[in-house]
Amino acid sequence: MATIKPIEGRSIHQIQSGQVIVDLCSVVKELVENSLDAGATSIDVRLKNQGLDAIEVQDNGSGIGPEDFESLALKHYTSKLTSYDDLESLDTFGFRGEALSSLSALSKLSIITTRAEDAPKGSKLEFEISGRLGNKSTIASTKGTAVAVSNIFYNYPVRRRELEKNIKREYGKVLGILHAYACISTGVRFSVSNIDKKGKKTVVFSTKSNPTTRENIANIYGAKTLLALVPLDLQLEMESSSSIAAKFAQNGPAERQVIIEGHISRPASGEGRQLPDRQMFFVNSRPCGLPQVSKAFNEVYKSFNMSQSPFIFANLKMDTGSYDVNVSPDKRTIMLHDQGELLESLKTALVEMFGAQDQTMPQAQLL
Ligand code: ADP
Ligand code: MG
Repeated sequence: MATIKPIEGRSIHQIQSGQVIVDLCSVVKELVENSLDAGATSIDVRLKNQGLDAIEVQDNGSGIGPEDFESLALKHYTSKLTSYDDLESLDTFGFRGEALSSLSALSKLSIITTRAEDAPKGSKLEFEISGRLGNKSTIASTKGTAVAVSNIFYNYPVRRRELEKNIKREYGKVLGILHAYACISTGVRFSVSNIDKKGKKTVVFSTKSNPTTRENIANIYGAKTLLALVPLDLQLEMESSSSIAAKFAQNGPAERQVIIEGHISRPASGEGRQLPDRQMFFVNSRPCGLPQVSKAFNEVYKSFNMSQSPFIFANLKMDTGSYDVNVSPDKRTIMLHDQGELLESLKTALVEMFGAQDQTMPQAQLL
């Protein structure tokens, strides 16, 4: 008898879903990204029991048209990409059509309301574990979408127990990722609240629909933090003879620029210790973890007599051909093709910047 047999369809679906939605953070990230992709300018995140019972995300974005209800939570159904070639020019967070499909397999997924611009009424949709549309009803609503993910991992007992055990840490990570999206999303009003077991609602943080990231930071971390920050504005010239981009360039090694924009606490601010321990990194405004870049910042910062790490908000702007987001299912890992060279030029630029500040000590501008 053959020992190699195909895995049954439903199990494959479950296994794959577990790679996109690895924790509470990935649920929040996927839902918020969908709202931003839908052009929302107002996003309300409601956590119930710190996310253990439910995560609801409501937006005022495009809404979902009735013609898409059936396919919404089916695997690899997306409105954002039709072929691999489109990846290069993509300006949305999502592109795989996997999040809602995965969420239907690992939680109770429902669209509490959705209404597209031209729809006469809103709709409420519930999805089955396979991602197929279950119940559907009409409901009064304004334009936009509200999604609810309840009882995450209810059918994965080991993960559920782990989550319950580590909920404090997981909740902290969820707020961290929400801070990052709220800070980078200028012109978008964010409100994040938690409803405890007794039904008591607390607003955790909120931002107004601010035109700048500085104001977003002030809303979240307070004006005091803002005072300790100086603008980060670096231009790194990279001679990328080794890069993939250069291989395709017609006239020899291409000179490429990486611009790093944002805010960083002044080494000599003296307020460092009271600053929130936060570092947020983005590549072309996509929040991501960049451990090596963070390490480079910390190293240089500490060499300027500081014992602690800086507060950093850094957006790396670079050619879309010089990195790859398609390396991990949750898209949190970004691969930079010329990381070594980038780190070296970054360190040089930071030494220059902090060196100059040591002498002039510019005052952070007030709002
Ligand atoms: P992806 O974002 O990769 O396309 P998802 O599973 O996250 O895949 O979403 C599937 C589709 O559902 C999206 O392409 C989009 O058309 C629609 N969608 C999901 N969330 C929203 C939302 N909040 N507003 C409008 N459309 C949405
Ligand atoms: Mg998505």
